[in-house]
Amino acid sequence: MARAAVLGRLTWQVGTVAAVRDETATARTIVLDVPGWPGHLAGQHVDVRLTAPDGYSAQRSYSIASAPGSGKAGPQLELTVQRLADGEVSPYLTQTLEVGYPLELRGPIGGWFVWDPAAAAPVLLVAGGSGVVPLMAMIRERAAAGSRAPFRLIYSVRDPGALLYGDELARRERVGDGLEVRYAYTRTAPPGSGQPTGRISAALIASAGWPPESSPAMFVCGPTGFVEAAADLLVRAGHDSGAIKTERFGPSGGQP
Ligand SMILES: Cc1cc2nc3c(=O)[nH]c(=O)nc-3n(C[C@H](O)[C@H](O)[C@H](O)COP(=O)(O)OP(=O)(O)OC[C@H]3O[C@@H](n4cnc5c(N)ncnc54)[C@H](O)[C@@H]3O)c2cc1C
Repeated sequence: MARAAVLGRLTWQVGTVAAVRDETATARTIVLDVPGWPGHLAGQHVDVRLTAPDGYSAQRSYSIASAPGSGKAGPQLELTVQRLADGEVSPYLTQTLEVGYPLELRGPIGGWFVWDPAAAAPVLLVAGGSGVVPLMAMIRERAAAGSRAPFRLIYSVRDPGALLYGDELARRERVGDGLEVRYAYTRTAPPGSGQPTGRISAALIASAGWPPESSPAMFVCGPTGFVEAAADLLVRAGHDSGAIKTERFGPSGGQP
């Protein structure tokens, strides 16, 4: 796998869109058939390249949402893309791309922000907005591999309409095999929930995370400002900074 990953990242290949699935009004999952895909680890990403007829090309990174080994008939990858209204690439991926279209990609990329299903340590996942995508790959891989490593996800999202994978997370949590999910709604909480809105805080990290004595593995992903704030809260809570792995999605600061 390690060798395949190193070779694969250098080579552009063409996947074909097998299906698309709207996750929210502005986010879409793209299922890709990728013949010869070398396999990936939960947490890795791909580079996607779009090329215009005049040769102009734009390249962006997208985390792999699916667990390694998904796709019954052949290798498949799922990407979930959040559309930015003024973006160059994400509107094409979420609005124009259709089943049967080719998509140029290379990967898998990244050997640091990955979860090993053989690891038994408790895991804390902290997601801001679409930063949940690589963390979802870890949650899916946990189930696919039959791991019982206890997982806690703290997911900060603007409002219930912006929630990615809400039904699937609820279903996986109901299984009761060690996945717990806590939401932090920054603007609007679900109607009737009585849940206060707000950014992730020291109190939330303390109540929904793990105590430092549990020595959890920690993965934090989202917009740059969110990741910095969350990692800072974890360090202030007494966690070992070396155990906190972060992935920054974009140049924009702030919370989702
Ligand atoms: C390792 C990695 C993994 C990523 N995985 C995902 C993923 O799984 N799903 C996903 O939707 N995105 C992901 N991203 C972000 C993605 O690469 C693009 O940055 C994003 O889709 C915007 O591209 P664009 O061309 O539409 O916007 P651009 O034309 O690049 O930017 C348009 C405007 O939005 C701002 N902007 C750029 N990126 C962001 C951002 N992430 N958040 C807020 N504002 C931004 C820019 O400053 C600019 O003002 C990932 C980024 C990295 C580095």
